[in-house]
Amino acid sequence: MITFLSGGTGTPKLIRGMRAYVDDREIAVVVNTAEDIWLSGNHLSPDIDTVLYLFAGILNTETWWGIRGDTFLTHEELLRLGEEEYIAVGDLDRAAHIARAAMLNRGLSLTSATARLASSMGVRARVLPMTDMPVATWVQTDAGPLHFQEYWVKYRGKRNITGVMRRSEEPPQATREVLDAIRSSDAVIIGPSNPITSIGPILGCEGVRDALKKQDVISVSPFIGNEPVSGPAKALMEASGYEPNSAGMQRLYEDFCDIVVQDIRDPVRIEGSVQLDTIMSNKEKSIQLAGEIISLVTQK
Ligand code: GDP
Repeated sequence: MITFLSGGTGTPKLIRGMRAYVDDREIAVVVNTAEDIWLSGNHLSPDIDTVLYLFAGILNTETWWGIRGDTFLTHEELLRLGEEEYIAVGDLDRAAHIARAAMLNRGLSLTSATARLASSMGVRARVLPMTDMPVATWVQTDAGPLHFQEYWVKYRGKRNITGVMRRSEEPPQATREVLDAIRSSDAVIIGPSNPITSIGPILGCEGVRDALKKQDVISVSPFIGNEPVSGPAKALMEASGYEPNSAGMQRLYEDFCDIVVQDIRDPVRIEGSVQLDTIMSNKEKSIQLAGEIISLVTQK
C-alpha cells in the first residue's frame, strides 16, 4: 500500500498518475483539513473534495477543484439575495457540502462522514482527513488576521503576509486511521503540495512525524528555483521563515524524509536528490512521473 500526504492540487496531480500503477484499494490519502470552513451553512473541505472527486472520476482537472461541468445557479442566486458567498460553489459540489454538514451535525466524525461520501461516490481508495478535530490555518496580513480561504479566495492573495498561524482549541491529533495507514504502507509519498498550508498542518497533527520517521518517505518539491510552480507558497514560506525553494522544503521535512525528488530544471540542488521532470501539465505527464517515483519505491 502507498500512503500520500495531500493538499488539493500538486499531490492530487501525482495521485492521478499513480492510479495507472497502483489499484485504488492500495492507496490511502491523508488529507489536509486546515482549509475547511463552514460556508453558507454547509461544510466545505476543499482538499478532501478534490481527492474524492479525483477518485470518483468527476473532478474538474482544469482548476483542480469542483466537479467537471457543474453549474452555479445556487451560488448566483445567493449573491442576488445579498449573501456574500465569496467562494463560487457549484451546485453538485454544494450537495457534498450539505451532506457533510448534515452528517457532522448528526454527530459523525469527519473521518466517518468522508468514508460515507467516498462510498456513495464509488471511491475505493482510503481518503482520510488528517484529524477529526477542527483546525484552521490563518495568516497575519496588513489587513489583520485572515482565515487562509479569505486570504487566498476573497482577497486573491493580494495582501502582505507577515506570519502563518494554526488555530485549534486543542493540539490536533492524527486519527487512528491516519497513523495505521502510514504504519502499514510500503512507502509514504508527499507530492508537490504546499509545505506550509497543505503538508504543514498534517505534520502538525500529533503522532504523524513520529510515524513518518519509521517509514520510507519520498517528497516531491513544488518549487523550481525560488518560485512555486503555482499558488501562494512563496509568500507563505517566507512569512514562516523558510526559503521559498526545495532547500526550504527539505528543512521542513529533514527529520523524516528519505528521498527528495526535485525538478530537472531546479537550480537549487539538494544533495542526494533525484531529479525528474515534475511538471504534470497533463495526465500522461502525471503517469510518467508516478512511474518514475514508484520505481524509487520498489528499488528500496
Ligand atoms: P492547494 O491545496 O490547492 O494549495 O494544493 P497543494 O498544496 O496540494 O498544491 C499546491 C502546490 O502544488 C503549489 O505549491 C505548486 O507549486 C505545486 N504544483 C502544482 N502543480 C505542480 C506540478 O505539476 N509540478 C510540481 N512540481 N508542483 C506543482
